[in-house]
Amino acid sequence: MRYVIIGNGAAGVGGAEGIRSRDKDGEVTIISAEGARIYSRPLISYLVAGKVADSGMDYRPADFYERNNCKVTGERAAAVDAKGKAVILEGGARVPYDKLLVAAGSSPFVPPFEGLDTVKGKYSFSSLADARALGAALAPHKKALIIGAGLIGLKCAEGISEKVASITVTDIAPRILSSILDEGGAAAVARHIEGKGVSFRLSSSVKRFEPGTAYLESGEAIAFDLLVTAVGVRPNTALLKGVADTDRGIIINARSETSAPDIYAAGDCAQALDASSGESKVMALLPNAYMQGECAGVNMAGGEKSFDKAVPMNAVGFFGLHIITAGNYTGNVRAAGEGDGYKRLFYSDNRLNGYIMVGDVGKAGIYTSLLRDGTPLDTLDFEQICEKPGLMAFTSKARQEKLGEAR
Ligand SMILES: Cc1cc2nc3c(=O)[nH]c(=O)nc-3n(C[C@H](O)[C@H](O)[C@H](O)COP(=O)(O)OP(=O)(O)OC[C@H]3O[C@@H](n4cnc5c(N)ncnc54)[C@H](O)[C@@H]3O)c2cc1C
Repeated sequence: MRYVIIGNGAAGVGGAEGIRSRDKDGEVTIISAEGARIYSRPLISYLVAGKVADSGMDYRPADFYERNNCKVTGERAAAVDAKGKAVILEGGARVPYDKLLVAAGSSPFVPPFEGLDTVKGKYSFSSLADARALGAALAPHKKALIIGAGLIGLKCAEGISEKVASITVTDIAPRILSSILDEGGAAAVARHIEGKGVSFRLSSSVKRFEPGTAYLESGEAIAFDLLVTAVGVRPNTALLKGVADTDRGIIINARSETSAPDIYAAGDCAQALDASSGESKVMALLPNAYMQGECAGVNMAGGEKSFDKAVPMNAVGFFGLHIITAGNYTGNVRAAGEGDGYKRLFYSDNRLNGYIMVGDVGKAGIYTSLLRDGTPLDTLDFEQICEKPGLMAFTSKARQEKLGEAR
């Protein structure tokens, strides 16, 4: 059996490990645009900050390929020939497959701002190479401008905060982290980040750039030495356009299968069912990527595995303040804390739909399990779960089941 995996991020690694859990002998080839190193992408801000050494970036040890008997080719995949069952590399070589996993992640999207081409010292912040390039340009006298107050823009701000003179972050949205926080949560986190010296310009877009200056729609001019664009990423779907069904991402089912025979997809390039809302979504998160990839690998090797519990979930920290969010923010709202202990639970039809926790995130796992399992809220003490999440809020039967699961 010839297995081919495009991409060696978390989803690709999950794929290889899933295959090897069933098939020790088949031929596994990983096609990687980023070479043979498997690093943890979320750690790039800690690398730039000097809080993690280069050697601490590994997601898997250097002998991963050898131990798992995988071949790596450091050339980009240019196309998939689904009829001929081969991946065509940029140099023209064909890599034949019996089963293919596309785990190609996403790419930063840079809007066509007027004058952006005149700016020297502009960076993205998505890869180890980006982090190294930005890290090399940092200096204590330099002013940084970050376009985008989402997760990547703010992780970048945290990473560079002690290495530049000032940081301004702009966003067209009226609040920071607008895709994961509601207004109150965003305000609490923004106050914390501003307390660390970062300035925000929200509800404001850049109209044009001149070298060293960004002009906002409001007329304000912001001088900068370093520009980071972090307005968003786009799933890498191009390889399967016209081959399998795609929407925002490559559409997969709970077995990580695409609509094309023998082709699977996983991770940031894939779109799957969100168990909390029933909608099909790209859930660009590392744990989802790994689990979708592993699920694909097991099925590619003839096993039976489903991963139907993906939920959009973020566990992230900024300047020491932890945030955990999951699910969607529809239905009734239960407020159970403010400021650095901000907590909101969203529920309807006897189910938890989502939650936001800022600061004290210790018991978030209980809410996540209610979401993933779709637990009916009338089977537990919802009041207690809101205020003091713990197993005692469950019926004794449910407690026993959960404790059984934990063993
Ligand atoms: C700064 C930052 C912070 C983050 N923080 C968090 C966090 O706190 N929590 C969290 O859950 N997630 C976080 N994420 C997101 C997380 O890193 C991703 O969800 C995860 O890495 C997705 O894994 P993946 O394998 O799908 O894709 P990727 O890790 O992007 O891997 C895909 C690989 O495929 C390669 N590739 C693409 N096209 C081709 C091609 N044509 N041929 C060959 N190879 C190709 C790419 O170069 C890449 O190496 C963060 C991301 C960033 C950038």
